[in-house]
Amino acid sequence: MERRLEGKTAIITGCNRGIGLAVMKKFAQEGCNIIALIRRKLQEFEAVKEQLTKDNGIEIQCITAELSDDCSVKEAIRQIHELRKPIHILVNNAGIAEYPGISRMKMESAKLIFQVNYFAALALIQGCILPMMKAKGASVINMGSVAGIDGPPGNCGYGASKAALMLATKTIAKELASLKIRANAIAPGYIETDMQHEMSEDFAKSMLSGVALHRVGNPSEVADLAAYLASDEASYITGQIIRIDGGQ
Ligand code: NDP
Repeated sequence: MERRLEGKTAIITGCNRGIGLAVMKKFAQEGCNIIALIRRKLQEFEAVKEQLTKDNGIEIQCITAELSDDCSVKEAIRQIHELRKPIHILVNNAGIAEYPGISRMKMESAKLIFQVNYFAALALIQGCILPMMKAKGASVINMGSVAGIDGPPGNCGYGASKAALMLATKTIAKELASLKIRANAIAPGYIETDMQHEMSEDFAKSMLSGVALHRVGNPSEVADLAAYLASDEASYITGQIIRIDGGQ
């Protein structure tokens, strides 16, 4: 297999499971060193880490960070700087979701969703500008969502936080282009992970009925897109929001 990310270093948030884990595996296969930003070190994660480093001849370092906590995010950024490594790729993947309608929505929950999905991602981008400048060609990939574009019911919190992140991606792409930093967002549709299992059955059914390919997506399909966006093959792509939704 071609190793398009050979010698690069990527920070990936939320790679304990789901899409983040698939992105970490794909990047490792492409020769990328990983800084895994996770909130807890699970035994399963240690096993995956060992296997990936052995199979692909890459390094994986872990930094623990609770993204709902500003101090923890600041501490993670401090540790990233302490590594004194150029950062070529930042994947803001970690996220939380809830889909109550506006009449039932709890403001505290909506604020927490924005804190994890939007403000923590923004802080990481801001905190990584210097190490990304050192890479002399870097790429930010933000995990958005079709919910932040289409605005289905129940998305005043989650969908709105993703809309904010995707809009920020466009503006950041323009601001950081002169520093040779690209920024793009991926907007997944319905992807088979734990997050999807949190949706009500009715909501899930109605979502799938609108998918042209009549199936859910696989985390590895999102990871393939992330690897392409992170690679030099996408060197002229910035400020874009790319849907991966089976045709919704
Ligand atoms: P999962 O729920 O499977 O995984 C979420 C990841 O985010 C976990 O690794 C989790 O860590 C981490 N995370 C959550 N909260 C925090 C926190 N406070 N601090 C640090 N880490 C945290 O979700 P997916 O893999 O499905 O989603 C990944 C991204 O893709 C999300 O941003 C999501 O919004 C987006 N997305 C997903 C879609 C889908 O259908 N699955 C559709 C559209 C977008 P831990 O393991 O420790 O809990």
